[in-house]
Amino acid sequence: VARRSIDVAELAAAVRDNQRAALARAITLVESTRADHREAAQRLLLELTPEVGAAESNRVGITGVPGVGKSTFIDTLGMYLIGQGHRVAVLAVDPSSTRTGGSILGDKTRMARLSVEREAYIRPSPTAGTLGGVAKATRETIVLLEAAGYDVILVETVGVGQSEVTVANMVDAFCFLTLARTGDQLQGIKKGVLELADLVAVNKADGRHEIEARTAARELQGAMRLIHPRDSLWRPPVLTMSGLNGTGLDTFWDTVLEHRRVLTEAGEFAEKRRRQQVDWTWTMVHEQLLRRLADSPRVKGIRGQIEDRIRDGSLTPALAAEELLRAFDES
Ligand code: GDP
Repeated sequence: VARRSIDVAELAAAVRDNQRAALARAITLVESTRADHREAAQRLLLELTPEVGAAESNRVGITGVPGVGKSTFIDTLGMYLIGQGHRVAVLAVDPSSTRTGGSILGDKTRMARLSVEREAYIRPSPTAGTLGGVAKATRETIVLLEAAGYDVILVETVGVGQSEVTVANMVDAFCFLTLARTGDQLQGIKKGVLELADLVAVNKADGRHEIEARTAARELQGAMRLIHPRDSLWRPPVLTMSGLNGTGLDTFWDTVLEHRRVLTEAGEFAEKRRRQQVDWTWTMVHEQLLRRLADSPRVKGIRGQIEDRIRDGSLTPALAAEELLRAFDES
C-alpha cells in the first residue's frame, strides 16, 4: 500500500507559521509509534530544533493532587500571561491515561477561558504507551510549540509514581500546588515532591481559608529549609495564592522569572536544559535496552527454564543474570 509521504520541510514551515492544523498534525506525528511517522518526526524536530524562540521560552511544570485547583489556576494564569502579551501552551503528562484511555489532565473543558483563546494551545496527555513514551512525546511537543512561537509552556501532571520526576526533568521550573495543611498534616506531603519543587504554592488561599493558608505556608517554608541547604543557589519559596480569584498570581509568575534570573546569572539555566537533553538521551537508551532484552528471542527461549532453576536453587541469581545477559549479547 502506497502511503502518502510526509513533506517535512513544508510541515516545518507551517508549524513555524503557527498554523494550528499543521501544529496538530506535527504533534500527532511525534506521538505516533508507527515507524515511518517516527522517522519523519525526527527529521521534523531536527529541522525545528535550533529555533531562536526556544531560548526565550519559559517551561513550567505544575503538579498537585486532583482537586488542588490545577486547571482553575492554569486557566487564570494563562489568561493573565496572555494579557501580558505571552502565548501560552498547556500540556499534560498523565500516565494513568494510558490505562483508562481518557485523560483527566489537559482536558479543554477544564480550562474554559483559555481553551477558546487564540493565543493559547491546549493538548491533553498522549494516551498511547508507557510513561517513557508519554514523556518522549511531551518533550518533542515542547520543541514544536516553541517553534510555533509559544513562549510559555505549562506542563501539568498529577503525583502518580514517576510522573513528577519525569516532568521536573523537562521543565525550567517545577511548581508544587498544595492546600492548607498544618502540623501533622504536613507529614502527608511526600518529601520527594518537595525536593523536586522550585516553588511551592498553597492554593485556595481565599475567603475563610486565607489565614489557614498563610499559617500552612509558614510551616512549609520551615520544612523547605531542612530539605534545601543554606548554600544552595535557590531556596524554593512557599507562596499563597488563589487560582479562583487570581490573588497571588502575579507573585507566582514573578517568582518563576526570578528563579530563571538567578539560574541564568549563575550560568545554570542553559546548562540545566543541556543536562536535561543528555539525561533524557540516556533514559531512552535504558528504556530501549530493556525492551530489546524482553523482546530478544534467545532470552525468551531460556527465561522460563532459568527461572525454574533459580526457584529450585540449582542456579544462583547472579549466575542466572549472567546467563540471561549472555543470551542477550548473542542475539
Ligand atoms: P484540579 O483537579 O487540580 O485541576 O482542580 P480544579 O481546578 O478542577 O478545582 C477543583 C475544585 O476546587 C473546583 O470545584 C474548583 O472550583 C475549586 N477551586 C479551584 N481553585 C480554587 C481556589 O483558588 N479557591 C477556591 N476556594 N476553590 C478553588
